Amino acid sequence: MKVSSSDLARHRRAGDPLPPLRARVEATRDDLELRGALGVMAERFNGAREEALAEPGMADLKARGIAIRAHGVTDLRANLQRFEESLRALGVHVHHARTGADAAATIGDIAVAANAHRVVKSKSMATEEIHLNDHLESRGVEVIETDLGEWIVQQAHERPSHIIAPAVHKTRPQVTKLFSGLAGHELEDRREELCAYAQTRLRDAFLTADLGVSGANFGCADTGTLVLVTNEGNGRLTTSWPRVHVALMPVDKVIAHFDDLATMVPLLVRHATGQKLTSYVTMIHGPRRAGELDGPEELHVVLLDGGRTALLGTQFEEMLRCIRCGACLNVCPVYATIGGHAYGGVYPGPMGAVLTPLLSSGREGSELPGATSLCGACSEVCPVGIPLHDLLVELRAVPGSAERSRRRTVFFALWSRAWAVPAVYRWSTRLANLARRHPRLTRRLPVARAWCDGRALPDPVSATFHAWWRSERSTG
Ligand code: SF4
Repeated sequence: MKVSSSDLARHRRAGDPLPPLRARVEATRDDLELRGALGVMAERFNGAREEALAEPGMADLKARGIAIRAHGVTDLRANLQRFEESLRALGVHVHHARTGADAAATIGDIAVAANAHRVVKSKSMATEEIHLNDHLESRGVEVIETDLGEWIVQQAHERPSHIIAPAVHKTRPQVTKLFSGLAGHELEDRREELCAYAQTRLRDAFLTADLGVSGANFGCADTGTLVLVTNEGNGRLTTSWPRVHVALMPVDKVIAHFDDLATMVPLLVRHATGQKLTSYVTMIHGPRRAGELDGPEELHVVLLDGGRTALLGTQFEEMLRCIRCGACLNVCPVYATIGGHAYGGVYPGPMGAVLTPLLSSGREGSELPGATSLCGACSEVCPVGIPLHDLLVELRAVPGSAERSRRRTVFFALWSRAWAVPAVYRWSTRLANLARRHPRLTRRLPVARAWCDGRALPDPVSATFHAWWRSERSTG
């Protein structure tokens, strides 16, 4: 199946068929414009993060963050119970959603009950996970994304390609062309002009929306505080201007104490954008109270399970520590080559290669753990100590994963048997060495061509280990 990178970028509705991984990789790998955009992103984010983490005290901050998230996951059920009690005490309506479809239906019901015709949304990967926009639109509710990157991909009828920078796959000239088409006249290819255009369009959306939907970066169990970490101010407008606010919060976002924010917010921000603090850190304590000037009349929190609690007590539990900083995407050589859309799911990069098959019980993304280099850069950079590359290896061994396909199992079983015979082992290593000495010839072999495509064969060694061993023994 032949697809292009723009086919992959296009918005898909839940259940729409996905091209096979090989076709997705081939489509994006050769898109030089995409590779350029990803290169700029990686340089900017990685440079800023490394600079921020060179400051004194960062190792302590990370150690505290790991401990907070580890306890948060171990005590998840107790923390959730306390969080719910704290929310109710503040006058918040709490809803539980076992699946993404339940969560979308709940938010749809809230919108209908509130007689909402227009919804403004701040960036939230959880809402992408549950295909909220499609659901609300199917119920006659207009949805407007208000994060600039999300608005760009929404206008282009595309999907986000990065968890903190949704439109990272687009270059500025592409955005200029898109916005000029929307405006009906040529806009200048200048950041300021493009932002000003988006701002004008979005201001009207905030003023006319009946309902605001947000995610939550953290939820504090002891105080019921919802925390949003943003840079554009759209999160604050989304949660304070419309008369009803719905926050969709995956259950793993709960932390035990409000005081833990002093660790978690700087840790998240430094790893995400390299800033000390984002421009806006919004803390929401319930709906508007008498005498307050802003805030919604009604506040709903939808707690999304979506397969998360099923991971408690398993070897994959550590994945629930993830704070969605995106750092593992920025250092990943696979993500840098193929971008986010080739992963196929909502969550790309190393965290997505772990999370997508886990949250879907293997129905989606079972091939992703095999499409990783296992270089370990993701685990090294992760602020909450998730051993991503170990989890990827464990996922490769899960029954039903693409790595356990019948073809591969038979192939490796035969290989293991063959190498158990010393003569076959010696013969095959000699043959491999011969292949490395004649790379041009090797590339012509159909079986080797795919492997050699984009990879350099290692330099030939002067002698095999066995030959070296024999000569050592004869001289020694
Ligand atoms: S797995 Fe770690 S590095 Fe990746 S997004 Fe989550 S917290 Fe960040």
